[in-house]
Amino acid sequence: MPHQEMTTESAANPFETAKQQVDIVADLIGIDPGVREVLKHPKRELTVNFPVRMDDGTYRVFTGYRVQYNMARGPCKGGIRYHPNVTLDEVRALAAWMTWKCAVVNIPYGGAKGGVIVDPKKLSHGENERLTRRYASEIAPIIGPEMDIPAPDVYTDSQTMAWIMDTYSAVKGYSVPGVVTGKPISLGGSEGRGEATGRGCAYVIREAAPHAGIKVKGATVSVQGFGNAGSVAAKLLYDEQGAKIVAASDTKGGIWNAAGMNPHAIEAHKQKTGSVVGFPGAKQVGNDEILEAKVDILVPAALENQITGRNADKIQAKLVAEAANGPTLPAADTILYQKKVTVLPDVLANAGGVTVSYFEWAQDIQGFFWPLEEVNKRLEHVMVQSYADVHKVAQERHVHNRTAAYAVAIQRVADAMKMRGIYP
Ligand code: NAD
Repeated sequence: MPHQEMTTESAANPFETAKQQVDIVADLIGIDPGVREVLKHPKRELTVNFPVRMDDGTYRVFTGYRVQYNMARGPCKGGIRYHPNVTLDEVRALAAWMTWKCAVVNIPYGGAKGGVIVDPKKLSHGENERLTRRYASEIAPIIGPEMDIPAPDVYTDSQTMAWIMDTYSAVKGYSVPGVVTGKPISLGGSEGRGEATGRGCAYVIREAAPHAGIKVKGATVSVQGFGNAGSVAAKLLYDEQGAKIVAASDTKGGIWNAAGMNPHAIEAHKQKTGSVVGFPGAKQVGNDEILEAKVDILVPAALENQITGRNADKIQAKLVAEAANGPTLPAADTILYQKKVTVLPDVLANAGGVTVSYFEWAQDIQGFFWPLEEVNKRLEHVMVQSYADVHKVAQERHVHNRTAAYAVAIQRVADAMKMRGIYP
């Protein structure tokens, strides 16, 4: 069955996984064999080896990549990751997944990803800036608002984007804010971008809850990873939908209070002490208790590979909303589906981030900026429609939501390719 193999991340070579996913869905929906072959190859890959002057006057050579997976639906979109374990195959897989994510939420983008093999925590601020600017100038020939628009990913942030925007603008001779998203508001960033991932996740939970037999008002919620995505989802579920946050965690540990906790107070405690641990009135629990808690809704918002063949059977939540990328392994998907746990896959549940990145780009190229209410209203519209599209395919084809989301996405990309045809 197709649903048995689907995930977005696994311990195996991630690009092999990404290609298998295309095969599974192509079999399910009957994609033309030639189109299927194209969908299993990145369109364009650039490897750059570049020198950086270190603070002590020596030079070091770093290796970076930018992979543009598919441009059939529009310019490529995808983050830049700084990590010592970056590989070309990882970047290829992440670029493929960005292609599907943009297509699931039907924004007019293809997918890309970039990476530099580096441990940025070992660089000074100045070294990080020089590395970023040189990498940006090396990939400048293939990025741009009409071609490929990077964004932050692991160990890159709005400062990194500001440096890339400035470097690219220096090469061009004029300001080009639309070359990257996730910028500071002062440089053409969008209102609402910071909380978009958690907000989008809260919207799809609201839409899916009735199908999972849950009333969000009063429903119990456990959040693994009370960071950007997780804390925003928790606050919105609490503020706007009346859910009860009973468990939360970060790298230091987890907290539990069956009576429910105010996520704003948890956030204030985390800001003061550096962790959710020690939150007044809560008892301390471990990672397993966070994941396996008897709750209605589980929001994995920390890391990949958290729900596996080993613990999937112990998951008691009725709804799992993947704010994180790749938290569920393929074996676990099968078990959860058999247990009738509704999973909202990452390509849908955390796509609010890339959706508001799209809004940021649209605002930049028009030079016309929207108020927060407008951003959130448009985000809600996209998430509601995307959930409906995925749910429809899941019902029609009797597959779980991950396979359905991939089917929606791959069909859209294949349709665009077919209509454009092959040059010459
Ligand atoms: P973040 O660093 O703000 O938050 C991550 C949180 O997870 C932190 O509180 C950290 O302490 C916690 N954490 C890390 N390891 C943990 C562990 N083993 N157990 C429990 N908690 C742990 O990062 P973020 O931006 O919120 O990203 C979280 C996930 O969401 C990632 O998978 C990321 O790829 C995904 N995501 C984020 C965005 C976005 O816009 N922020 C968009 C799409 C996907």
